[in-house]
Amino acid sequence: MTLSGSMLIGASDVTGDEGVAHAINPATNQAIPTPPFGLGGAAHVDRAARLAAQAFDAYRRQPMETRAALLESIADNIEALGDTLIERAHAETGLPVARLQGERGRTTGQLRLFASVVRQGHFLRATLDTALPQRQPLPRSDLRMAKLPLGPVAVFGASNFPLAFSVAGGDTASALAAGCPVIVKAHSAHLGTSELVGRAIQQAVAGLGLHEGVFSLLIGAGRKLGESLVAHPAIKAVGFTGSRQGGLALQRIAQQRTEPIPVYAEMSSINPVFLLPGALAARPEALASAFADSLTLGAGQFCTNPGLVLAVDGPGLDAFVAAAAQAVGKKPAQTMLTPGIHDAYCSGKAALQAADGVSTVATGLSSEGRPNAAQAALYLSDAEHLLANEALQAEVFGPAALLIRVRDEDTLHRVAEHLEGQLTATLLLDESDHPLARTLLPVLERKAGRILVNGFPTGVEVCHAMVHGGPYPATTNAMYTSVGAQAIDRFLRPVCYQDVPEALLPAELLADNPLNLWRLVNGAFKQA
Ligand code: NAP
Repeated sequence: MTLSGSMLIGASDVTGDEGVAHAINPATNQAIPTPPFGLGGAAHVDRAARLAAQAFDAYRRQPMETRAALLESIADNIEALGDTLIERAHAETGLPVARLQGERGRTTGQLRLFASVVRQGHFLRATLDTALPQRQPLPRSDLRMAKLPLGPVAVFGASNFPLAFSVAGGDTASALAAGCPVIVKAHSAHLGTSELVGRAIQQAVAGLGLHEGVFSLLIGAGRKLGESLVAHPAIKAVGFTGSRQGGLALQRIAQQRTEPIPVYAEMSSINPVFLLPGALAARPEALASAFADSLTLGAGQFCTNPGLVLAVDGPGLDAFVAAAAQAVGKKPAQTMLTPGIHDAYCSGKAALQAADGVSTVATGLSSEGRPNAAQAALYLSDAEHLLANEALQAEVFGPAALLIRVRDEDTLHRVAEHLEGQLTATLLLDESDHPLARTLLPVLERKAGRILVNGFPTGVEVCHAMVHGGPYPATTNAMYTSVGAQAIDRFLRPVCYQDVPEALLPAELLADNPLNLWRLVNGAFKQA
């Protein structure tokens, strides 16, 4: 498939006329020889948003089987792109081919998971409270509730997952599964990859004979096109993964609209790892080696990267620090996604190095002049400095972590209480650590969306029980997850039908349950 550099607005190719962008290979800093990408603006947003609004009722009323087939067809079309997609994503992001192949599997698996979620229908939360005409002192009406889609959703894909969190990533898959048309603002770091995947979605929409407005892909500067997309009255929710600054900017715009809308922004997290004394005493070297692997995986460009390590002082911690320093010191420098992300990483490290009470424990192997190659780094400080300096909790996006020596268990609790909201919190422990873990857990439950024991947070399984979310600043809305089957809930709202005749009700609420759903009927779960 040849790239055109166009936006995909419904079924049309539209070349933006508000400037051009070129795809850059971050490993060489050279432009990738393909047509330039025309940047769009407010007029393009308006066209895509109007189409999406027109498509909404028709799309949401399609049989569930059609929604599921759309998701599966997108997955098939992405697979059919074969090596073209992987080669393009590799050139645009510098991510290794094997990683991208894995990410493609995650992306298509995610689409198929949502197809199964749609077929199963539990997300509709169909609930019936039948009429009680004889009830005293007042009769009860017939009340039936189901979840309905919100309307057109704007998606801002992530730079660090060009497939799984981008054009056909989790936000798009869950919004389409919910019955919402989607408009994606392509991430400027992988425009060609975005066009390829966008065409896979466009073809799936056309192949099933759906309204063209079900999907559009826009290209443009975040500050201009992105802002007008969030401000457009037809847009009813926003999915975003990226910087805290970007997520908060979009949330402000959404709140200032005449009709404010939810922004589900997944932003910054430093994912604290608590090394408990029993585990530290028993296996410091093994923990250090596993930690260094997790820290440097994918050049540390994961929202779940373990950026903060906390432990009570003692010989176990000394052994851990020595082993971690050795392991990090051997890690090669890796290409980051964009020059901007590499610059931000270098500034973040410089700020840590310069902070009062912080020392450098280890740096990884030199980049030897390769452009945008991140050198891993490990820093050391103590609880007193962490408690006194909020800046030490800032996310440094990349393979850098701060180790905090803590005087005693009381101080460990104080530090845990002091932490900002997180996507994850990890306990590395042995059985002898259970009493301490039991006292830390209530704190961590308030701080994080996912709590792990004896693992590292960098793998995020796409399944039914996953929570990839957490209190601010990890996200703008701690009530939801952006990964896993429950991500669909972000794009739904409940509607109650009171005394509405059967002839006018949606299929999921009919008395004879034609969709064969598990439903809550008069307070009891039934498949009848
Ligand atoms: P970003 O700068 O937040 O950009 C993400 C997307 O939002 C892009 O499409 C961008 O458009 C758009 N955008 C940003 N600011 C905007 C604004 N004020 N108004 C409207 N749209 C806006 O994130 P990034 O480019 O992926 O990476 C930059 C930094 O974000 C990294 O260094 C890292 O600190 C952080 N990050 C965090 C995570 C995480 O999961 N925690 C993941 C990725 C990145 P343009 O590109 O056109 O500006």
